[in-house]
Amino acid sequence: MAQRSETIDETGIEQLDAVVIGAGFSGLYMNYSLRDRLGLDVRVYEAGDDVGGTWYWNRYPGARCDSESYIYCFTFDKDLMQEWEWSGKYPEQPEILRYLNHVADRFDLRRNIRFGTRVTAAHYDEGADRWLVETDTGERVSTRYLVTAIGCLSVGNVPNIPGLETFAGEWYHTGAWPHDGVDFTGKRVGVVGTGSSGVQSIPVIAKQAGHLWVFQRTAQYTIPARHHTVDKAFLDEIKKDYDAIMEKARWSYGGMPISPIERSALEVSDEERLEIYEKAWAEGGFAFFRGSFYDIATDRRANDTASEFIRSKIREVVKDPEVAEKLVPVDHPFASKRPLIDTEYFETYNRDNVTLVDIRHWPITEITPEGIRTEDGFYPLDIIVFATGFDAMTGPFNRIDVRGRGGQKLRDKWAHGPSAYLGIASAGFPNLFMITGPGSPSVLSNMPVSIEQHVDWITDLIAHMDAHGVRRAEPDPDAEEDWVAHVDAVAGKTMYLLADSWYLGANIPGKPRRFMPYAGGVGNYRKRCDEVAAAGYEGFVLT
Ligand code: NAP
Repeated sequence: MAQRSETIDETGIEQLDAVVIGAGFSGLYMNYSLRDRLGLDVRVYEAGDDVGGTWYWNRYPGARCDSESYIYCFTFDKDLMQEWEWSGKYPEQPEILRYLNHVADRFDLRRNIRFGTRVTAAHYDEGADRWLVETDTGERVSTRYLVTAIGCLSVGNVPNIPGLETFAGEWYHTGAWPHDGVDFTGKRVGVVGTGSSGVQSIPVIAKQAGHLWVFQRTAQYTIPARHHTVDKAFLDEIKKDYDAIMEKARWSYGGMPISPIERSALEVSDEERLEIYEKAWAEGGFAFFRGSFYDIATDRRANDTASEFIRSKIREVVKDPEVAEKLVPVDHPFASKRPLIDTEYFETYNRDNVTLVDIRHWPITEITPEGIRTEDGFYPLDIIVFATGFDAMTGPFNRIDVRGRGGQKLRDKWAHGPSAYLGIASAGFPNLFMITGPGSPSVLSNMPVSIEQHVDWITDLIAHMDAHGVRRAEPDPDAEEDWVAHVDAVAGKTMYLLADSWYLGANIPGKPRRFMPYAGGVGNYRKRCDEVAAAGYEGFVLT
């Protein structure tokens, strides 16, 4: 067990071993790992009034996760795995939040979390090798280790549309949804945005609203989720072999226990390909993307077959051919943006109370007190929902004033795009460790699998530092540069550079364009992290 710090120094500042920022999946497990495994004196700061992170804030109608429920969980406690019962194929937001609350209670994780407290600054004191952390409630603490568990998608993007402040109705962002819900009954509702949040919420809102206008900038490929209540017999079978299944997920591409597919879309006959796509479409979910052909993600010609198949499905489902054509994506290949899965998304456009508004060709010009004006019309509204996404991955860092050695600001260092070794640490910022930071698989994977890997790895590094009297760990700038170049090179072999997506920062005006997550797969990434640790934390400077 590590030596505990003295709790108060001579200036009256509380001395901690570790500060963790955030109490979602990452922060909860990091808290458990540092506090209960290593015995460190840990403080967690959480801006929300309770645990949950993403799942605390994103309470919009239809919110649920696209990873199947049995893999969207912690695996560090076998009893927890066996005892928790999910109720649906995919976990819905209220249930995920209940799960995280259950975990917090079960492991008594709340007692060292300060809720309703946002970290505003963290400055590294080189003389003391400690971080001075400040919060919006005026707390100041000093800590040896600082771990960010701030999420990749926690800073909402509300477009800067002239006149929004004059709107006389209600407006909401999906990522900051009111806790007591929104009543759309009989209302004139506008949803701006058709990414994951829009595609999930639109069908649910349409069922309540008097009329719904969907303001679409980019048409989407989306695969039916085929969501249903849980198949108890299936889950019981899973639980018999849970460890092996999750171990398979840990070494897979996306953190899901899907075997790699050897088959190329270009090496089968047209009939066979169609049959495979139809089967995957009927099964639903990510199996279409990861379970049909290996080269959909990497070869444009193979990808074209999948893109064209989905387009044909849209035309089949949507009854009005003009509306169908507007919904058919033609400007980017399938899976160059985050692949989506839905429940009755395209079917929703067959409803009489739903209208699709094309803001690609006729953009929104202003919001007035009464509604939204576009270049080709005016839409009177009672409620506007912005499903317009997030300032992803770097946004959560940029809103904290992080300063490392020599007073260097992290936001200055990352002004042209993020740079972090393994997505875990950044040169010049010693003892600052990032869970699912830019340059790690994070958002391209089933998050809990990636989170557990990061938490375990960071815990081992901290244990190593304590055991060897290491005061500082930070990446060697060359190792970091090599890793960032590798992240770029791997992304270059995929479809990801062929669309304007939040992966690239393209959704935020002025944001540097750099592909932020690591597309090499969680298994390969885990192997590299293990090698780095086995080689005495190769690429890190340990002082
Ligand atoms: P998103 O994928 O970034 O989608 C935002 C939508 O808003 C896009 O259609 C975008 O159009 C549009 N938009 C953005 N700025 C706009 C503007 N100024 N004017 C008009 N339209 C604008 O955001 P999201 O749907 O919240 O999802 C973000 C990520 O969160 C997902 O990719 C996923 O990783 C995660 N998520 C997951 C789930 C799940 O597991 N089911 C659910 C929700 C979110 P363009 O495409 O033209 O930019």
